[in-house]
Amino acid sequence: MRPFSYARATSPDAAIAQVAGRRDARFIAGGTNILDLMKDDVERPTLLVDINALPFAAIEAGPSALRIGALARMSDTADHPDVVRYAPAVSQALLLSASAQLRNAASIGGNLMQRTRCAYFRDVAGACNKRAPGEGCAALGGVNRLHAILGGSSNCICTHASDLAVALVALDAAVLTRGPKGNRTIPLTEFYRLPGATPQIETQLQPGELIVGVDVPRSAAAARSQYLKIRDRKSYEFALVSVAAALEVEAGVVRDARLALGGVAPIPWRARAAERSLVGGAASADAFARAAQIALDGARGHGENDFKIPLAQRAIARALTAASAA
Ligand code: SF4
Repeated sequence: MRPFSYARATSPDAAIAQVAGRRDARFIAGGTNILDLMKDDVERPTLLVDINALPFAAIEAGPSALRIGALARMSDTADHPDVVRYAPAVSQALLLSASAQLRNAASIGGNLMQRTRCAYFRDVAGACNKRAPGEGCAALGGVNRLHAILGGSSNCICTHASDLAVALVALDAAVLTRGPKGNRTIPLTEFYRLPGATPQIETQLQPGELIVGVDVPRSAAAARSQYLKIRDRKSYEFALVSVAAALEVEAGVVRDARLALGGVAPIPWRARAAERSLVGGAASADAFARAAQIALDGARGHGENDFKIPLAQRAIARALTAASAA
């Protein structure tokens, strides 16, 4: 691990000012991701600005949205009665993430900003365009069982690691930020960037811009949302495929449908065409199977991960069935 400086911020503006002018500075909250990456020599900040004292840890249910502070811990968020009531998929996604110890330390903002678990990204001996642009992508012809079947490019086929982000994308959540140029509200569906030719640029955040919270709109569908995670072992494991599904069903007819996938793309993957196929039709097994087919239109495996296509289709049908019964 390389030497670095540490500073504790006492106000949002001070934190932003400390990081904004320096590309080698990073915010730190729980530290469960960045410290790992520093030990692996993947991240090399020379300044860490601790934001834990900032006033962004509250969770509040307003009349139209649930607001989750960026410094709320994963475990506190998962157990919060308003999160369980208004956005159960968010609570479920958090409880299916990491380990109990990690959930007690890790923050909501940090969870959204975590980097990919691609093994080549974390091994500085491997070629990785995300870590070292122009170097190549060892996963394309290498071990890619865990990699993307949607949204990748010839430069990167990694998958996004966050379960929480999948649930939030399905529920039309927005990220609230504060930065050198003021405050912004960014829909989570626009927050993450596909890799294209620049896999090293992962989000819309600008230098020094700090996530201060997340707004999750309240809706009948969100209150019945479900999160399904398929993984190689029962706990402390990232998703092979995950599905966040939410349905509003009246008299057997789907009035509102939300569907997002994890473990299959470099970003949390919203399946809008599949949602459109459901709205106005019967909430039936046939309709769910058809939506699952549509959601995987254009999916392409890279050899070892071909199995994810039928696995994702079965997971979608199962998650929609659970959501319709919720
Ligand atoms: Fe790097 Fe992306 Fe290729 Fe993994 S998939 S090696 S993160 S460029």
